[in-house]
Amino acid sequence: MTGPWPDPVRLTPRVTLVGSGTLGFGLTDPHDSHVYLVDGGTDAVLVDAGCGLAADRIAANVRSCLGARQVSRILLTHAHADHAGGAADLARLLGATVMALPPAAAIVAAGDEDASGLRIARRAGVYPPELRPAPVPVCPLEADELAVGALTLGIHPTPGHAAGHCCFSLADADADADADAGSRALFSGDLVFARGRVAVLATPDTDLRALGQSLRTVAALRPDVLLPGHGAPVLREAHTHLRTAVEHLDRGALPPGLLP
Ligand SMILES: [Zn+2]
Repeated sequence: MTGPWPDPVRLTPRVTLVGSGTLGFGLTDPHDSHVYLVDGGTDAVLVDAGCGLAADRIAANVRSCLGARQVSRILLTHAHADHAGGAADLARLLGATVMALPPAAAIVAAGDEDASGLRIARRAGVYPPELRPAPVPVCPLEADELAVGALTLGIHPTPGHAAGHCCFSLADADADADADAGSRALFSGDLVFARGRVAVLATPDTDLRALGQSLRTVAALRPDVLLPGHGAPVLREAHTHLRTAVEHLDRGALPPGLLP
């Protein structure tokens, strides 16, 4: 890119966007998913890792937010290269542990380009030839929730877009207890986006029945904030966007796609 790198974008008191490609805010490499920094005070984690071609820049963004404090874990929503390709480099640069649900954990750990869909996507020109993620140790996500300093992240297996896809929910410890449902954020990966849109790929692990069930699962969480893997975040009344997706399902239709 030309010109100065954009600064990280603070979205909520606890969540800052530190990586984002052309389907987002253009902070880092064009092929990057959104990469979110979740700051729990005494501990911090990343949600997703981008594709790896701008891992240095993402790490610099993390350091500019945290100073001397550390990211302990990198939580992957799924194994696709735009979300997980940077896991190995970021784990090394930040000294963090990579975590994902099975079977995404095994796919990323092995650098399995067939199972992640990278080999086909690269051949199709979606990714440049130099995008070749290295294998990296990955710990499986096994609990229902994860403590991040003062915060608790809920772990929600949500297959459909990809095998081993995971959404994460965050109850904001700073929220006013009297606030009306305004306290839960959902990191939705590639399950669902603003306006209830979805991303259905022609890959072997796409499962439309599971996608519908996963959409209903996250809609039932009634999040106020939606932090998807691409595109615009929704910072209030996000549950109305998820309801739009469920209304399509109720009519026997898939919600519209993210891309035209
Ligand atoms: Zn994906």
